[in-house]
Amino acid sequence: MLNVDLHCHSTVSDGTLAPAAVAARAKANGVDIWALTDHDEVDGVSEARAAAAALGLQYVAGVEISVTWASQTIHIVGLQIDETNPELVQGLRVTRGGRERRAHEMAAQLATAGIPDAFEGALKHVGNPDLISRTHFARYLVEIGRCADTSEVFRHFLTEGNPGYVPHRWASLEQAVCWIRDAGGVAVVAHPGRYKLSDLAFDAFFSEFKQLGGVAIEVMTGSHTPDQYAYYAKVAANYGFLASRGSDFHSPAESRVDLGALPPLPDSVTPVWYNW
Ligand code: AMP
Ligand code: MN
Ligand code: MN
Ligand code: MN
Repeated sequence: MLNVDLHCHSTVSDGTLAPAAVAARAKANGVDIWALTDHDEVDGVSEARAAAAALGLQYVAGVEISVTWASQTIHIVGLQIDETNPELVQGLRVTRGGRERRAHEMAAQLATAGIPDAFEGALKHVGNPDLISRTHFARYLVEIGRCADTSEVFRHFLTEGNPGYVPHRWASLEQAVCWIRDAGGVAVVAHPGRYKLSDLAFDAFFSEFKQLGGVAIEVMTGSHTPDQYAYYAKVAANYGFLASRGSDFHSPAESRVDLGALPPLPDSVTPVWYNW
């Protein structure tokens, strides 16, 4: 059976390994088909593709787009994209655009909470100045000993109701799916188990996603529990979605699930890679 990992991050967004190092780790872990899916950014694609080719690893160009839907942040993964597509490139540039100002607001809130200089501190962890994210702030709070690890940070800071949380308007669902499709790619709902939506809202969301031309959801992801593997396999069957598998690996020190290490997709679903 093929080991397929279609979701992970490099220093081009909020991962700690460069694209070529992520490729090497995927290969070492036995991955056969691999996609790098940095947040709102395709700058790592050429390095990732070249590294994968040198390793004999089948590479799929990818991205993870931040979307605001019904006031919630939702992530949409695009796979098999042409990363040079002008609409996609421009759309991602606009989506990244507000991050720096948001980061200054996050730092101002943290300063009020007794943590000064967090913008400069987070910046030390940033690999791509265009993509400062909450993860970089989380690493700074761990660095200064404020929290033991990044998951503790997200329980006390940077999330709704906590210091350092700044609501942000990302791309619309329609924009994200259209950019991915215009670039010849397939749109996949990332880690559906993470969104706090009622059953009714989830139904509206999946229906709209499907109507826009979205084709798959992540069933096996580092964010899901075993119960959620089974639950989202059923959701995929109910809506006629293909199923994806991706660790969402960010860092050897932080990620619960390593590249290629998830269980295989259940037999009941059709893999998103079935015709690749
Ligand atoms: P941003 O795009 O700046 O809002 O940052 C989102 C990133 O923060 C996600 O892609 C994760 O890498 C990280 N993140 C968000 N919530 C958590 C959490 N509860 N635990 C660990 N990482 C998180
Ligand atoms: Mn991330
Ligand atoms: Mn995500
Ligand atoms: Mn991700």
